[in-house]
Amino acid sequence: MKSIEFAGSFPSLLKCPKVFKPEYAFIGRSNVGKSSLINMLMKRHNFAHVSKKPGKTQMINYFLIDQAWYLVDLPGYGYAKVSKKLRVEWEDMVKRYLRNRISMQCAFVLVDGSVPVQEVDLEFIGWMGEMQIPFTLVYTKLDKVREEEQKENIESIQQALLKDWSALPQQFYTSAETQLGRQELLSFIMDINQAYEQANAR
Ligand code: GDP
Repeated sequence: MKSIEFAGSFPSLLKCPKVFKPEYAFIGRSNVGKSSLINMLMKRHNFAHVSKKPGKTQMINYFLIDQAWYLVDLPGYGYAKVSKKLRVEWEDMVKRYLRNRISMQCAFVLVDGSVPVQEVDLEFIGWMGEMQIPFTLVYTKLDKVREEEQKENIESIQQALLKDWSALPQQFYTSAETQLGRQELLSFIMDINQAYEQANAR
């Protein structure tokens, strides 16, 4: 990653950049470690805001990487204290973006690997599957728990998903603390970028 620019915060799909480049959305339950993971990927300490007050920002944040692709930070879900109105606004903004943003190549759905599976995560992941939106699962905070516990947490998610699905999406194992998974995730993005370039060069 040679250059990173903050490319703006947008309140809705309609306001998102009209310049299309391959883009990748990051989403998860609030407090899942999304800001930390994005900062870890970008090797910046506070580009994406690490906050103790989840549920506050309701903006779609764009970062332009190497003038070639966008990393898109979507507002998180599942914060208990959010009002009904904010929740409806979130649904409208995020789900509309995910269903309609044509240049979105893949969404990274973050799941906290340090705690047992949560119902809101399964609900959101189920919706992604139903809508056939391309996504991968990213387990976060894996430095926080012992290996057996990680395994238990992750297996509980996998088993819940396999009740409805015949196969699991691609999965990444990460920690913002130790940089676990950074190379794998970035290589995955680079591969898609390359395919995108080739398809558009024809
Ligand atoms: P967000 O609300 O999803 O953006 O989550 P944050 O990035 O703000 O992280 C929420 C909390 O989890 C913060 O206290 C972080 O320091 C902590 N955290 C995030 N990622 C990790 C990680 O990989 N390992 C550990 N041990 N803590 C993490």
